[in-house]
Amino acid sequence: MDLNFDKTHLWHPYTSMINPLPVYPVASAKDVFITLETGEVLIDGMSSWWAAIHGYNHPHLNRAVENQLKSMSHVMFGGLTHEPAIRLGKMLLEMVPDGLTRIFYADSGSVAVEVAMKMAVQYWYSKGEAKKTNFITIRSGYHGDTWHAMSVCDPVTGMHNVFGDALPKRHFVDAPTVGFYDEWNNSAGEEMRETIARNAGNTAAVILEPIVQGAGGMRFYHPRFLALVREWCDKYGVLLIADEIATGFGRTGKLFACNHAGITPDIVCIGKALTGGYLTFAATLATDDVALTISRNSPCVFMHGPTFMGNPLACAVAVASLELLKQEDWRTKVKSIETILKRELEPARSLPAVADVRVLGAIGVIEMKQPVDMAKTQQQFVERGVWVRPFGKLVYVMPPYVMKEKELVKLVKAMVEVVGLK
Ligand SMILES: *Cc1c(COP(=O)(O)O)cnc(C)c1O
Repeated sequence: MDLNFDKTHLWHPYTSMINPLPVYPVASAKDVFITLETGEVLIDGMSSWWAAIHGYNHPHLNRAVENQLKSMSHVMFGGLTHEPAIRLGKMLLEMVPDGLTRIFYADSGSVAVEVAMKMAVQYWYSKGEAKKTNFITIRSGYHGDTWHAMSVCDPVTGMHNVFGDALPKRHFVDAPTVGFYDEWNNSAGEEMRETIARNAGNTAAVILEPIVQGAGGMRFYHPRFLALVREWCDKYGVLLIADEIATGFGRTGKLFACNHAGITPDIVCIGKALTGGYLTFAATLATDDVALTISRNSPCVFMHGPTFMGNPLACAVAVASLELLKQEDWRTKVKSIETILKRELEPARSLPAVADVRVLGAIGVIEMKQPVDMAKTQQQFVERGVWVRPFGKLVYVMPPYVMKEKELVKLVKAMVEVVGLK
């Protein structure tokens, strides 16, 4: 491969055009393995950022794409519809928390978040409350890289420094302090309650990642916090948007992270694992109340419609991915990954450079005391035959659900070994 061309002309995520971090050329990927052009085979710990839950190059998913290609890869969704979109919609409604009934297909997670935020603002506009346009969120969050998604990312670790005044000012509340496994403390949600109460008049919605805060810090918080936010949103008249883009489809041990708290948000964003990691695709789901309120009053339509909305190839592979999820007992697999992660990561806890070790569902995190050198650490992982991409102080994995114990143990042993070198 012409790596020099790549280095000179291709932007990778969050990289410099002057001094880019090294990239590894991939020849192919199959099951839980990534094969480099050099012939080295890596066990994949990242599921390509939460997406490839069934592993790569899966025969059932391949077949779905091939079959769909034979009828059509795309038609516009304006004025037309098709079987893959309808089938996927039916399957989603069976899975998501009760009460979510209306589906908007979007092209990526960030767009699904933009759509959710627009829905919330348009909901209040339709009710004659055009002043309710702002958002409340929690620190350490991540909701994507587009404009308004960025405005609700963590203001310190996110991109607020660079984009400063160009970003709308949101109401930030401290990230929940009570961890998933901790004892609930009755005063822990008070800042959130006060912020909602004080700002309800100018706020369309609270937006947050339920239970697991992903790219903003890999934090797992107490379900009671989420349940209380739901109560307060109802009490003070603010919508609740749950961004399940990373957490959806079983990753946290429940089908959706909202299930840990037994709540139904007004609006939910899904993406990442939706197509089993095959194609970029996402959706924003809403309740009857949200969808019908928007549709009842002028302009009587929801103001969004992407070119590739409801792409048939993406819908077809998403249907196939959900079929696999149903057939293959994801719950047992995720549980077993959780047990192995807990057992194998435990030795890292006593290492001098390690601040914390935590596991929830098929997510394993080592938090370091100091940020790690990404290029050097990745190289150390590649030398050990595994693919792990750390960021900041976090060295973490969210493996494909199909990973076998042998590979998972090798992956985690490499993690512990590499953080032990620090
Ligand atoms: C990845 C992610 C997004 C953004 O999705 P993209 O497909 O990268 O635009 C939004 N929210 C959460 C919680 C995510 O993990």
